[in-house]
Amino acid sequence: MKYRDLQIQTQREAPNNARTEGFSFLVRAGYLTRENVPTKLGERALDHLRKLSDTFGDTFLSTLGLQTIGNENEIFYAIASGSIEVAHCTSCKYTERLELARFAKPTIPHVEADRDPPLPIEKVPTPDCDTIESLANFLGIPKETTAKALMYTRVVDNRFVFVIVRGDMQLSEAKLKGKVGDVRAATAEEITKAGAAAGYASPIGLKDALIVVDDLIPQSLNLVAGANEAGYHLKNTNHGRDYSAEIIADLIQTKEGDACFNCGNQLSVLSADILATRSHGEAVLRPHVENVLLAVAETYHDEKGLTLPNPAAAFDIYLMHLPGKAMDTRAKAEEIYSTLQNAGIGTMFDDRDERAGVKFNDADLIGCPIRVTVGEKGLKEGMVELKPRKVKENQFVPIEKIVEAIKTNLK
Ligand SMILES: [Zn+2]
Repeated sequence: MKYRDLQIQTQREAPNNARTEGFSFLVRAGYLTRENVPTKLGERALDHLRKLSDTFGDTFLSTLGLQTIGNENEIFYAIASGSIEVAHCTSCKYTERLELARFAKPTIPHVEADRDPPLPIEKVPTPDCDTIESLANFLGIPKETTAKALMYTRVVDNRFVFVIVRGDMQLSEAKLKGKVGDVRAATAEEITKAGAAAGYASPIGLKDALIVVDDLIPQSLNLVAGANEAGYHLKNTNHGRDYSAEIIADLIQTKEGDACFNCGNQLSVLSADILATRSHGEAVLRPHVENVLLAVAETYHDEKGLTLPNPAAAFDIYLMHLPGKAMDTRAKAEEIYSTLQNAGIGTMFDDRDERAGVKFNDADLIGCPIRVTVGEKGLKEGMVELKPRKVKENQFVPIEKIVEAIKTNLK
C-alpha cells in the first residue's frame, strides 16, 4: 500500500484525551482518530489481526507475544484503562470476571456450626437500625454475625426473591442472576405484600418467596436478622430451623485480597480489556481485534512511536525514498516496491516528496518492523539502507539482495 492511498495523518503531539501510551501512539501514527475510530490504516491493521487469528486459532495471542491472563473461555489484557474488572491469582493464574470469581470464604469460629449450639430466637428493639452498619454498632456485634437481606423480583414470573448473605459480605448480582434468572429490585409494594419490612427484613414467615442464601449461611449460626417489623430485629436466627432456602449457592462478590479458591493466595483485582472469547460450545476463541490492537500498541512502543514486531505489524516494511538532487530515487523506490510485493512482503511505501526528517519521524511513529530507505548516497553504490525499527544501527544492502536481507531480519 502507498502512504498517500492510505491517507495517513500523523500527529506530533499526543492527543489530550489519551488514557494510555498505546492509544496515544495509535492516534499519533494515524491508526485511530482521537474518537477511537479506525482510519484506513487502522482497518488494515485490524484486518491483519483477523487473518492472523484465523491462521493461528487459540495460539493467536501468544504468537503476538502479548502478556495475557485468562481462563478457558475468556482472555484478558490487564490495563489501567480497561473496561472490565477481573480477579486474578498470581500464584495459580486463576482468572475470572470479578462478579463471577470464586474465592475461599473465611471461616469465623464463633459463628461456625460446630462451635455454638443454636440458641432460641429473641426479638429485640433496634430503633433506627435499617443498615448492617447501624445494627452492628447498636448491638455491639461484628457484622459477620448479622444476616443481610436483599429483595428482588424475578423478571420472568414476578416471583419475589429474598436473598440472604452474611452482613460482612457483598452480594454479586451476576451470581444471583446465574442461579435464578434476571431480577430487578423489588418495589416497596412488593416487599410489603410478601410480608417483609425494608431495613428490617428476614425470610422468617414470608409468603411465596423464593429464598436464596449464600452457601456460608447454613454454616453460620445465631445470626441477627430483621423481625419484618420496623425497629425490631431477631437474634439467633438459624437456617434449617427457622427457615429454609430453595437455593443455596455462592453469591458473594470477590474483593481485592480475598483468598484464591484454588490455592489460597491473595487475589488481585485488575482492570482489563477482553482480547478473546469462546462462546458456549465454540471450538476456537473469537478475537476482539480492536482491543488486541490496543494491547499490541501498549506492549510494543518506545518514546518515538510503535515498535511492532513481525507478525503483529500489518506491514513489515516501511519503504521510503529521500528526494535526490541528481537521481530519481522515487523511480528506484517504485521498482523496489514491486520487487517486495512480488516477494509477498507486506510493504507500506511512503511515496511522498517530503523532507527526510518528516518521513523518518513518521516511520518511527507507524512502527513497521523494518525501514528501507532509498537515497542517492546508497544508490551510487547500488545499495539501499535497511534499518530494523528497534535497533539504532542501519545496514547497507545491495539492491539485488534486499529480499533475502529482509527475510533474514524478520526472523
Ligand atoms: Zn490461586
